Amino acid sequence: MQLLRTGDTGPAVAEVRSALREFGLLPPHVPNTPDDRYDALVQQAVRAFQQERGLITDGIVGAATYRALREARWTLGDRMLGLMISAPMAGDDVFALQERLLELGFDTGRPAGVFDAQTESALRGFQREYGLNQDGICGPATLRALRQLGRKVTGGRPGLLREQERVRTAGPKLRGKRIVIDPGHGGPDRGVMVDRIAEADLMWDMARRLEGRMAATGMEALLTRGEHSCPPEAERAAFANAAGADMVLSLHIDANYSMHAQGLATFHFGNGNGSTSTVGEALAGLIHRELVVRTRMLDCGIQPRTWEMLRLTQMPAVRIEVGYLTNLGDRRKLLDPVFRDVVAEGILVAVKRLYLLGQDDQPTGTFTFQDVLAHELARAAGPAAPGRSR
Ligand SMILES: [Zn+2]
Repeated sequence: MQLLRTGDTGPAVAEVRSALREFGLLPPHVPNTPDDRYDALVQQAVRAFQQERGLITDGIVGAATYRALREARWTLGDRMLGLMISAPMAGDDVFALQERLLELGFDTGRPAGVFDAQTESALRGFQREYGLNQDGICGPATLRALRQLGRKVTGGRPGLLREQERVRTAGPKLRGKRIVIDPGHGGPDRGVMVDRIAEADLMWDMARRLEGRMAATGMEALLTRGEHSCPPEAERAAFANAAGADMVLSLHIDANYSMHAQGLATFHFGNGNGSTSTVGEALAGLIHRELVVRTRMLDCGIQPRTWEMLRLTQMPAVRIEVGYLTNLGDRRKLLDPVFRDVVAEGILVAVKRLYLLGQDDQPTGTFTFQDVLAHELARAAGPAAPGRSR
């Protein structure tokens, strides 16, 4: 195609202007003024659009930018979507479909806005599970089902890949990070109960210990419940989303009919066939290894789950099952306040390690709360301090 750039006029420019207006990058058209000029405002808007889409930001509409402009105009429901081998369908509507399917646990692969074979197979999987005609085409009935379910996942789970970028750009400092701590159960829901010892109370206590340490390092720790309340999981997730938290840590204790079942398990979002929160998994791994080493509890592994607290939250979320209350050894540990401090410290260190991205790191189990504090202070007084030569 012919390149469009500053100074050009004509119907092609008019089309570009109308698209940019739709994306809110150009102000509304003033009636009785020309609407087909590639002026400085258009150039600026094109650059903004290119930047947003990861294109070369030259302010010129070439083939790639033109295609991206057209693709960006589609919203889910504008047209039927299906697999076209010769000319694959592409657009923001396909992207929205892929993200929605991923949210619901159907693996479309990395959402790229192109309807490919994997998208079709994910869509068929969704149709099968929800009793729809398995034609692999996103038509009115499928769309309706996707939208109804969409309401359940209000706020949606943004691209899991975006989580990685957020951690990378967040920097190593803990100060200013907002962590939601979710003590399981509460109020009338006591969780696991053994000999009048309740999971709800123990996890409340552990959450407070963790909260104190986080506050000491300058983090903002928020609890999903009060000492005597028990909001539903979906409400707790919505709370974390509304708070714009950097991560969610859910604290529970397990139980088993067998008193021999024991150990510590850590969970992150994932459906077991590829749709996984990468950061959630990394955080779960760090917490898990840190706690296994420090508590000497049996290692029950790191596992993907689609529980509400993991699925409905928009940030990395991890749930820790700190042992079995039904096991004598685990129960003894949990009843010891020193042990609960050890767990709180292990979790804090794991969070710190996530943001360190492997820099200034120390072997699992050796980083102490004092180390973390010292590290934070050093950072605060570090290269950012004014007037300091490096
Ligand atoms: Zn529980």
